[in-house]
Amino acid sequence: MAIEIHEGDLPAGVDFGGAAAVDTETMGLDPARDRLCLVQLSAGDGEAHLVRFRERRCDAPNLARLLRDPEVTKIFHFARFDIAVLERHLAVRAAPVYCTKIASRIARTYTDRHSLRDLAGELLGVEISKAQQSSDWGAETLSAAQQSYAASDVLHLHAIRAALDRMLEREGRSELARRCFDFVGHRAALDLAGWRDIDIFAH
Ligand code: MN
Repeated sequence: MAIEIHEGDLPAGVDFGGAAAVDTETMGLDPARDRLCLVQLSAGDGEAHLVRFRERRCDAPNLARLLRDPEVTKIFHFARFDIAVLERHLAVRAAPVYCTKIASRIARTYTDRHSLRDLAGELLGVEISKAQQSSDWGAETLSAAQQSYAASDVLHLHAIRAALDRMLEREGRSELARRCFDFVGHRAALDLAGWRDIDIFAH
């Protein structure tokens, strides 16, 4: 595993091919209150790029270009949160999107275990530690444990997507999943606009 740390933006010319795994770390779970601290990216080749942000207002043109590039699918786990955070702090709507949590909920109806840790364990036999999940991502320097935790959140998303795609195909649910991925940006927009705790589809 190789980790590269960048300040404030991705360097120009990093190639993610057709799909970039993306995750974010923030000061907390409210995109309106809590600032973006880190964006992790991987091309699925064992290398992780960690982009650090130190201020509330971020201007990261290379990262923004990648996030809105129609030729590069952004693979998230729980895209709803990351898309809202990225839209709020980088003023960019990430698209097109693949969400491994949505794919899992649609394909793996035999279980209610859909965390990234559950998927890496069951589908890849890979153990992911969540020990650093609630650490201080705004710290001046990120510890080695924080860096490897942050990287592990993106290094396996391509392989998890491939495994879930096989299950979705087998169960005849690929198209349903794709339509949900296309909608999740709108769900994130509802969150940011004040409907976060309201299910607009409920009776
Ligand atoms: Mn993460």
